[in-house]
Amino acid sequence: MAKNDYYATLGVDRNAGADDIKKAYRKLAMKYHPDQNQGDEAAERKFKELNEANDVLSDEQKRAAYDQYGHAAFEQGGPGGFGEGGFGEGFGAGFADIFDEMFGDFMGGGGGRRAGRTSGRGADLRYNMEISMTQAFSGSKTNIRVPTSIQCEACRGSGSAGGKAPDTCPSCQGHGKIRAQQGFFTIERTCPTCQGQGQVISEACPGCGGSGRTSREKTLSVNIPAGVEDGTRIRLAGEGEAGLRGAPSGDLYIFISIAPHHIFQRDGANIYCKVPIPVTTAALGGHIEVPTVDGGRAKINIPAGTQPGHQFRLKGKGMSVLRSRDRGDMFVQASVETPVNLTRKQKELLEEFESAGRKADNNPQSEGFFTKVREIWEDLKE
Ligand SMILES: [Zn+2]
Ligand SMILES: [Zn+2]
Repeated sequence: MAKNDYYATLGVDRNAGADDIKKAYRKLAMKYHPDQNQGDEAAERKFKELNEANDVLSDEQKRAAYDQYGHAAFEQGGPGGFGEGGFGEGFGAGFADIFDEMFGDFMGGGGGRRAGRTSGRGADLRYNMEISMTQAFSGSKTNIRVPTSIQCEACRGSGSAGGKAPDTCPSCQGHGKIRAQQGFFTIERTCPTCQGQGQVISEACPGCGGSGRTSREKTLSVNIPAGVEDGTRIRLAGEGEAGLRGAPSGDLYIFISIAPHHIFQRDGANIYCKVPIPVTTAALGGHIEVPTVDGGRAKINIPAGTQPGHQFRLKGKGMSVLRSRDRGDMFVQASVETPVNLTRKQKELLEEFESAGRKADNNPQSEGFFTKVREIWEDLKE
């Protein structure tokens, strides 16, 4: 019987990425799942085709073999793909696979990768979290809800109906590997019947379709350490997508971003802020109070004659330092304010101040500046 093209079966492009294939498969598998279509033979056939197509296209190496040889790559050895029949006759047995095995063995590099492929480890997940600067300062404990696939409860992740123990794989007798003679080579490779797991399932769990995992939202408690920086990544080991049939779960990565604060700017452990100071306080001296990142207040002594832009340093009032009891400093910049909307009385007082006459050293910045300007004008005259 002529087989449908695997890409057409899943309705994806030949260049489709692994994610697109996974998505397309999930969507269609849900639609044609036997539980939803009791007694419908066409749907059952379609479901089988979907699983077969997904089995090949979701596996990097099988997909490569399929792209190269088409269905012929999997037609040897009867049901279950290239099983007991071994290779030998013709070239259909998937040279890509053999080649990879050999290189894997000789170069010692393939082992880890293959283990990753056949173990069915769940995917890593990313979760973006925005926190405030105060939360970054004090650290916080937050609950997050993560959509993920988790171990199927009905079969406890085995993928087998009713939690029945899986059978030993008949192709490899549970070793997960099969050996084949190819000329004077004996080549050992991952058993294609059980994908190296050594076990097969006679009846798939209806709850999860045999994958051993189902989709669910789960709540996780996340500890944000004090002093965390913008862009920090927190890894929650094993909290990613559940593995296939009891294989290890992936990890969950939380990417922290810190929302801009309306008055504080952070630079590492230090905090900067600009504070307006009335011209009278700047001239006569006084005190101001500023908020601090820990939620408290700090008093700053403003000496008489404080100039605009002057920076006050508050030692140990800055950001907390990650995994330490230390704190950075806080720098407060004086922004001296010119008064506006003066009352008649205020105007009179300022005019009186003006007419009282200027002392030579009243305006230190002006003095320096105009001395230079006079020099320029003198130079121009000559
Ligand atoms: Zn299940
Ligand atoms: Zn096997």
